[in-house]
Parts: sequence; structure tokens; C-alpha cells
Amino acid sequence: MNVYFHTFGCKANQYDTALVVQAFADQGATVVDDPAAADLAVVNSCTVTHESEAKLRRLVRRLARQGKRLETVVMGCAAARDDGAIAALPGVRAVIGGAEPAAVLRAAGMSSPPVPLSAMRRGGTTSRSRGLLKIQDGCDEHCTFCATTIARGANRSRSIPELVAEAQALAEHHAEIVLTGIHIGTYGQDRTTDPGRKPGEEPDGPPLGDPRARARGQSSLGRLLEALIVAVPQVRFRLSSIEATEVDDTIARLLIDAPRQLAAHLHAPLQSGSNRVLKRMGRHWYTAESYRARLEWLAARLPVLGLGADIIAGFPGETDDDHRATAALVEALPFTYLHVFPYSERPGAAAARLGAPVPPRVLHQRARELRDLGEAKARRHHAGRVGRRADGVVSGHRAGKVEVLTQDYVSVYLPTHEWNGSARFEVTVR
Ligand code: SF4
Repeated sequence: MNVYFHTFGCKANQYDTALVVQAFADQGATVVDDPAAADLAVVNSCTVTHESEAKLRRLVRRLARQGKRLETVVMGCAAARDDGAIAALPGVRAVIGGAEPAAVLRAAGMSSPPVPLSAMRRGGTTSRSRGLLKIQDGCDEHCTFCATTIARGANRSRSIPELVAEAQALAEHHAEIVLTGIHIGTYGQDRTTDPGRKPGEEPDGPPLGDPRARARGQSSLGRLLEALIVAVPQVRFRLSSIEATEVDDTIARLLIDAPRQLAAHLHAPLQSGSNRVLKRMGRHWYTAESYRARLEWLAARLPVLGLGADIIAGFPGETDDDHRATAALVEALPFTYLHVFPYSERPGAAAARLGAPVPPRVLHQRARELRDLGEAKARRHHAGRVGRRADGVVSGHRAGKVEVLTQDYVSVYLPTHEWNGSARFEVTVR
């Protein structure tokens, strides 16, 4: 059977798709890049914005118009929240909430594998040089704009030994490993102890992580990073997205002291620079001030830092003053790029009940203004890096060029003939 895969959404979804691809390959299926050559399509869906679901519907309709009247299995976050609308799309064979490979295989009419799947059995998850390691799934928070908690459930962290073993396998093929998940800063909070460790007992080396978590024998993201760096020191790890105030002292120390092992890059969701809006978003664990303080403290101690953020423009009830507070915070911090999302209502999320909708014209104007600010900051950061040496990892190839990603998340494009063939090397930013 030839199977075409498509993934919407975040790196956690890419990781999930890779496991499903592996399950199909293990059962003898052939993965094809062209839907015209496929007997079945599997689409991993995303529910983060109205637009991501609209794109899903467009793709499924397009697949159904293929010559063979291709059938599609829709999996993932939007599938988990389907009220029948996805199932009713043309050509949809099954809607599978979540990303369990065995369930997707069964929906495709194939038998499920007898042993649990692991990404370790696969060479990789993204490009040859960058791999993904999903450390946890789900989230215990209930941000009022987000439907992820509904789609993905509560925080579930994988154990440190399992993740170390998977990182060691990934390191055979990848120079960089990106730690991904849905709320990675809460890694370990759902686990009382790691196997083989008693509460309060340390692994080799100095005390790690949050002392309260340590006293409970609990793992934390800092503790996991320490273990990964010891086990695979040749790899550069990168954090996919982490709340600024969840960058604890252990993580900060690693960013400062181990730049070859942990990339100087944080993607720290801000969402709003107005405390009034943050409160109504349900983001109770930080304020504009605590967010700013943590990032300024870190930026002052790092020679270079890639710093990104997600921002929602036009949350219900957002005033001009709220918007100006966000713009001022963006101005003040050394962001190197921004992801700006115009607010879109998600069915089941509480935000729409919390304030009057911002008129679409104003909402898009605010989004544009923030995007312009982000682009100006990105240009400034890039200009400041041109001519400097950086720690580069190859992240892709296109049109006769090699894309090399620096520790601070700047892409450098080298003509292929200038590339020495290694996956990681010192590159001059251009
Ligand atoms: S922290 Fe908030 S925005 Fe992030 S996944 Fe959890 S509920 Fe969604």
C-alpha cells in the first residue's frame, strides 16, 4: 500500500507523524511524496487556529478529488475535537483523535504492530541533521484561548532513562536534537520519581533543578537536560518552546555554561504584554514584569541569544492601552523574531465569553503592527550577526543551497559547493 502523509501544526505533531510513518513502514507500506501515487492519505491535524482547521478541510477536499478518489484518515488535535464536520468531509475514511499509531493503522485496515513503537527504531524525524525528541505530551493549564488541553489531555512526561536512550539513538544520525512537547517547562511535574531513584537522591554530580521538586524525587526539565548532555555531549540540544518563567536556574546555567550542548535560543510565548489581558487569558504564572525580568537577566549573561515569542493580537476585550503595553514590551526586549497570531475563536475555549470581540479591522491592524515590529527586530539581529562566526548545524537543502542553522536560530544559506559535507561546523553568518 502506498501512503501519503501530511502534517499540520507544531513539532510535537511532526514527531507524532514520524511514529505513525514508522508503524506503516514496519507493516510493509510505502511512503510516497505525491498523493497521486497514493492508495491512502493520513493527515495529522492541528486545532490551534481557525485557519489551521480551514487548511485541513481544503487539503482533505483536494485529496478526495485525486484521480483514484483517495481516502483519508484524519488524526491529531482537530480530529480529537471533531463534532462530525471532519468525518463528513469527502473521502474521509476515519477520524482518529490523538496520535496512537496502532489506532491509525487499524483505521487504515492494517494490523497493528505487536510491540510498542519508539522513535529510537527510526533514523530520524526531520532533516538528516536535526532530530525531534518529544519529552512530554499534554498540558495542565487552561489558557482561555487554547483548545490544546481539550485535544491532548493532561501533562504526561516520559522517563529520563527512556529519553536518554532515544537521544543516544537519535545522536547516531543527528547533530541537533530539538526537545519538543506541548508544555515542556512542566516536564516531570506529573512524575513523582524516576525509576531507580529515591526521593531526594541525586544522580552523579551536583544538585540539580528546583530544590522542592528534588526533595520530592521529581524530575524536571533542567534535570532531564543535565542527563541528556552527560549522555550525548556531542549533540546540540535546543528547546522548542518554553515559558520564560519556567527557565529555572539549572536551565539558565546550562544555557550560559554549555553553549555547545544547549543552543542559545528560547522561544518564550508572551501572548500579551498587558497583565489585564494575561489574567483573562488564564496565564497566571507570569506577568509582563516577571517575563521581562527573566529574559533580560538571561540576555545580559549570554554573548548571543535567539529570542522568539508567540503573541496573540486582539484578544477579546483588548484595549488600545493593552495593545500599546504589548508593543512597548516587544520594543524593550531583545527579540530576534516574533510569531504573531490574530485572535481567532476556538470552539470549546472560554476566551470568547470574556470580553467584547475586537473589530476585525482593528485586530488585523494590531497584528500587522506587531509583525512589523518583529520583522524589524529580526533584521536588526541578523545585521548584527553578519560576518560573525557561529555554531552551525545543517537543517536542509534547497535549490543548490545548504541551510545552516546557528545556535541563535539564524539561517545561513551556503551554496552547496562551499559546503564541506559535515553536519555541524563553524559558519560565518552572511
Ligand atoms: S500553556 Fe496554555 S497555551 Fe500552552 S498548551 Fe497549555 S493551555 Fe495551551
